[in-house]
Amino acid sequence: MKSSSWFLGIDLGTGSCKTAAVGEDGKVLGFGVGEYSGAEAQDRWQEQDPRELLKAAIASVGQAVARAGASPESCGGMSIGGALHSVMAVDGHGEPLTGVITWADGRAVEPARAVAGTPAGDNLYRETGCPAHGMYPLYKIIWLRENRPEVFQHARRYVSAKEYVGFRLTGTWQVDYALAAGSGFLNTDTLKWSDPAIDLAGIRKDQLSPLAAPVALLGKLQPAIAARMGVPANTPVVMGSSDAVNSSIGAGAVAPTQATLMVGTSGALRVVSPRPVLDPKARSWCYAIDERHWLVGGAINNGGVALSWLRDCLNQAHGGPPLTFEDVLALASRASAGSRGLVCLPFFAGERSPNWNLNARAAFFGMSLEHELRHVARALLEGIGFRFKNLVEVLREIGLDVKQIVASGGFIKSELWLQVMADVLGRDLNVPAWGETSALAAAFWAALAAGCAGSMEDIRSWVRHGHACRPVPENTAVYERVYPLYTKLYQAAAGSFDDIVRLQNDLAAAKDERGKRNGTR
Ligand code: ADP
Repeated sequence: MKSSSWFLGIDLGTGSCKTAAVGEDGKVLGFGVGEYSGAEAQDRWQEQDPRELLKAAIASVGQAVARAGASPESCGGMSIGGALHSVMAVDGHGEPLTGVITWADGRAVEPARAVAGTPAGDNLYRETGCPAHGMYPLYKIIWLRENRPEVFQHARRYVSAKEYVGFRLTGTWQVDYALAAGSGFLNTDTLKWSDPAIDLAGIRKDQLSPLAAPVALLGKLQPAIAARMGVPANTPVVMGSSDAVNSSIGAGAVAPTQATLMVGTSGALRVVSPRPVLDPKARSWCYAIDERHWLVGGAINNGGVALSWLRDCLNQAHGGPPLTFEDVLALASRASAGSRGLVCLPFFAGERSPNWNLNARAAFFGMSLEHELRHVARALLEGIGFRFKNLVEVLREIGLDVKQIVASGGFIKSELWLQVMADVLGRDLNVPAWGETSALAAAFWAALAAGCAGSMEDIRSWVRHGHACRPVPENTAVYERVYPLYTKLYQAAAGSFDDIVRLQNDLAAAKDERGKRNGTR
């Protein structure tokens, strides 16, 4: 290995593809971003165009390489970190038969509900570490079988967006353990495909990709793509892991006493554990990383997406230049802790952990004539914080007593948001100096595969620590008062979620019908 080797880490996320070029000492040499147009959203559907993802990935690598200015010949390899829970059907030539059905797609509610709480569902949780929830590709494939038989019959394979991009880069189908685990089809103990899950989906084992460890070689980069990226043909592409794993280890959280608290479009609280950890109540998930590490935690649907909702609503009524996230956060900063008694249940996009109810819906409770937009903005951040408080409690109950919390994801750009989170949790939040932890860790897997590091834990030497955000005791005291009320409100609202969703669906269907009659939708 040449002393000046550098590596590429590709973070194929939900909103964009980001790539870091990183030296073997962990120094970031260059960074690139390839944007995609947002997911095509229709009712509960969220699909992305896989070709657009591929294009964005190649563009982001090209940018990172150009900005790094390092010798292309010294590129020691790359890996892709893929978003969990996406699935698409491809034909025998690898051509897409569907779009990339993302984690946020809610069409598979019913197939998952049919299994939740049954002995088969309990058995699947024990086997795969995945609660019965429609985000898992297992249930999306059942949906395709029941609703798109022409796709189901012609599908040669079911793959994630990462596998599709990896195939286009190298000509090889293979999947790492973490991505496989996030499909709902992997046995977390044996690291083999789960027969009960495959039987439930009604597919064949050879419709899923061969499994491989994160440091295994996926293949060598195809010449045409290498030319577009600005690196030599045959550059090694190693398996790498999922964005969830990468976001955690790239923040330096590799021990079971450390958790990563991530708020990006969605959110998650995750711990790397040396053994699989399951919850008797199936509130958390457990995904294999490699033969010695598992990622345990809970994910929430409503992270940054809730802030996007508020920003977009405000922009509809705003004449000037569009408001940004920073503007909405500045608005929230003008309200004090507790948002003057306004409590937000932030379920704009349904709920995942801990109650796994895709039909959960958002509510603001306690609104009075005293309340202003700034309270709404702050209550929303606080409502997201309370979900994390709940997740910390769940992890403690299942034996993961977290001592240190590291923040990651887009929210770390805001001191206010970090402060609200630290105050709600009553805990310090450590903030890495460089926020793109997923891309950093994706580069690390390539370095590990090339022999530049000895173990996953060595990523600690790559992580530069920034500052710690400490809770303000008076604010924490306010939140200790609000949290029980928040929990009570959730319980009271939970009984009405199905009714409200039925109403919403009926009204949307009636509007569609009228639109069709009038030639508009
Ligand atoms: P993804 O989950 O798509 O990879 P990121 O981790 O980049 O996304 O996070 C995107 C989220 O970060 C946005 O939805 C938004 O809520 C939040 N965000 C973006 N810009 C800022 C900012 N300046 N301050 C705080 N939060 C921000």
